[in-house]
Amino acid sequence: MNRKASRFCLNCGLPVFGRADKKYCDDHCRNDFHNSQAVTNSRLTRSAHKNLRRNYEILSGVVEAGICEIAKDELLVYGFTTKPITEMELREDGTMIYGIYDIHYFEKANRMIEVYRKSDLPQYW
Ligand SMILES: [Zn+2]
Repeated sequence: MNRKASRFCLNCGLPVFGRADKKYCDDHCRNDFHNSQAVTNSRLTRSAHKNLRRNYEILSGVVEAGICEIAKDELLVYGFTTKPITEMELREDGTMIYGIYDIHYFEKANRMIEVYRKSDLPQYW
């Protein structure tokens, strides 16, 4: 049996012996590796989800108040951040529409933001 290791544990870096598809030296290292990946992923997504949720709550509040246009600076005061979106669409007139779930918005002249719930729009089909 060939005991020469040409692979190294993805968790601890020690040589790995055995099956060709073995990636970790033992179960402990495999679990450690997967747990640390999950923690890293969770840390990354938690921050993005928190910003998305805050933006959604702010824009929902605007729409629920019956306001369809609000100053961008006012949104920023409420804690709105421009980066997190769930979709974007470029209209033929060059307007970039940003979406957070069912709420969409775009910037107009004078730093005004028009906000609407997508489901409020008439359905054409
Ligand atoms: Zn290991």
